[in-house]
Amino acid sequence: MSEDDERRAELAESLSSIRQRLAAACAAAGRPVADVQLLAVTKTFPARDVALLADLGLVSFAENREQEARPKVAELAALRPAAEARWHMVGQLQRNKARSVARWADVVESADSPRLVEALAGAVRNALDAGERTRPLEVLVQVNLDEAAGRGGCSAAEVPALAADIAARDELRLRGVMAVAPQNTAPDVAFDTLSAISARLRRDHPEAGEISAGMSGDLESAVAHGSTRVRVGTALLGGRRLISP
Ligand SMILES: *Cc1c(COP(=O)(O)O)cnc(C)c1O
Repeated sequence: MSEDDERRAELAESLSSIRQRLAAACAAAGRPVADVQLLAVTKTFPARDVALLADLGLVSFAENREQEARPKVAELAALRPAAEARWHMVGQLQRNKARSVARWADVVESADSPRLVEALAGAVRNALDAGERTRPLEVLVQVNLDEAAGRGGCSAAEVPALAADIAARDELRLRGVMAVAPQNTAPDVAFDTLSAISARLRRDHPEAGEISAGMSGDLESAVAHGSTRVRVGTALLGGRRLISP
């Protein structure tokens, strides 16, 4: 077997066990499995792995660092020109990266401030005008569920105003909320809070129904609390080597 064949078999096996976990979690929650999208978090892994995942039928990929994502998106396009791929930015984003992100991201899940929203809208407008993208940017509001100072995300109280700001912009499409369960809180408590925040958001914005929640270690809890998109890295691709931010 070539190295690619071995890796492909490894990825196929972990993908199948994640699909089983998702099916079981959906069954336990009385939800159809089609309700929950699997987003492959490919940070720190090479474009070759993304290509193999695309061969296995995945279409949605996520990165958390703009500098790493940009070349990887281009590499995947070179490796698999015909592959349908949708790229999500899930990491903290500096305003000065908005211009670059607008060229490759289909979705930004980490919108957490009016200044970032303004920068993204302007960057998408420029990218549309320059023919560098053809569609508006889908946006999720990242909520910080950690009482202690978090690494990104706005407070629950800030969600309505930020959502209204996003929804008012032609270049952006408000889709829902995203959160990471804090380490010091039971995931069930965190995801229950997120579910309430999402319900409140949907009163004003029925189109913003996505709840991006759940990772390798807590996807069952997230699905039980209404997640529509789980973001899975480790359980799919294996352990990450630590890299400096
Ligand atoms: C890395 C990352 C994930 C995936 O985490 P795993 O525990 O490896 O599945 C999900 N969401 C965000 C925002 C991440 O940065």
